[in-house]
Amino acid sequence: MNEFDFIRRLRKQTESRKRSPRVINGIGDDASVIREAGDRDLIITTDLLVEETDFYRDATPPALLGHKALAVSFSDVAAMGARPRWSMVSIGLPREIWQNDFKESFFAGYFALADQYGVTLVGGDISQSKDRIVIDSIVIGEVDTGGAVLRSTAQPGDQIFVTGTLGGAAAGLKLIEMGARVNQKSEVRSQESEGVGSPTAERGAVATGFHYDAETAEADAIERLLLRQLRPDPRVGWGIVLGQDRLATSMIDISDGLSSDLNHVCGQSSAGAIIDAASIPVDKEVSKLCGRRALDPLSLALHGGEDFELLFTVHPENVARLPKRVDSVAISHIGEIAGDLGVRISERSHVWELKPAGFEHFRQPE
Ligand code: ADP
Ligand code: MG
Repeated sequence: MNEFDFIRRLRKQTESRKRSPRVINGIGDDASVIREAGDRDLIITTDLLVEETDFYRDATPPALLGHKALAVSFSDVAAMGARPRWSMVSIGLPREIWQNDFKESFFAGYFALADQYGVTLVGGDISQSKDRIVIDSIVIGEVDTGGAVLRSTAQPGDQIFVTGTLGGAAAGLKLIEMGARVNQKSEVRSQESEGVGSPTAERGAVATGFHYDAETAEADAIERLLLRQLRPDPRVGWGIVLGQDRLATSMIDISDGLSSDLNHVCGQSSAGAIIDAASIPVDKEVSKLCGRRALDPLSLALHGGEDFELLFTVHPENVARLPKRVDSVAISHIGEIAGDLGVRISERSHVWELKPAGFEHFRQPE
């Protein structure tokens, strides 16, 4: 039984039991939706990060781990069209980690992101673990009553969009596995160095007088890909806009990989989709660096996980109402929801089935 089969079984087990009518959406989406008494619904999500499975200790500065633990949960709240409000975090640490400055750095990174969105840490738990770091991050958000955007509500004819760019985080992970390590100063680097703006190497060159050459450009590109993996920027602003303005008919965050996550939306909406390979926003640095390292950039963008971009659908009449950018992050139109089942991708007049090939815990060997 794989991860997703087990989750389906758990969901059936909860559905066959007596359940509170205030559970608007239980197991099966990015987060749960609980009806509140006033004019709000609560959105709750939890994410587990386990050393060696979800991160490598020697490649992950503690402050970036603190950032990422919270960022992945913010991403799930954003995928519900909600605003994050409160958080909890539980940590299991081996004794030698407890005794060094890991916890101080971890929480410095955690609080920096929490403060950015005005989120308050309201609790957690601490335990000693034998030899691996384990982190469980919980975030609670809010939407207007009935305003949560589910995975299961895409309709045929809806247009499919993604925020930002894809493939960067998976490329970053490959680089880590090849031995690349993030520059320590990146721990304190702010948001502005990320993504779509002008290249940091160029700005660095102006500021420091360094000669800008191919080598520094490549080092800078590697650094940025490492940060896509280690320091994801959850699309909180886009989530709030799409939810509040009722623009998205369905939404998911891309944590497992576009192929898997689009299949989740289509499966749960009992629909299919057709997307266009040429319109997938492959990270420019992935194309540049991975092409040269014999990695296929399109494949990283389709199946690589952890980009934490949002994948959402929009009724055709509302497409013109979409903002061009939110928090300087753009979106790309990649395809359309179809009435018949199956997720397909067209590439230079060939159409093939886009099977879910993203990340999966306990994947069965082929
Ligand atoms: P995401 O990648 O968006 O965090 P997951 O794939 O981890 O989502 O989980 C999918 C759904 O399954 C979520 O609704 C989650 O709450 C539920 N789920 C996962 N693990 C468990 C579990 N151990 N018990 C109950 N629900 C679970
Ligand atoms: Mg998710």
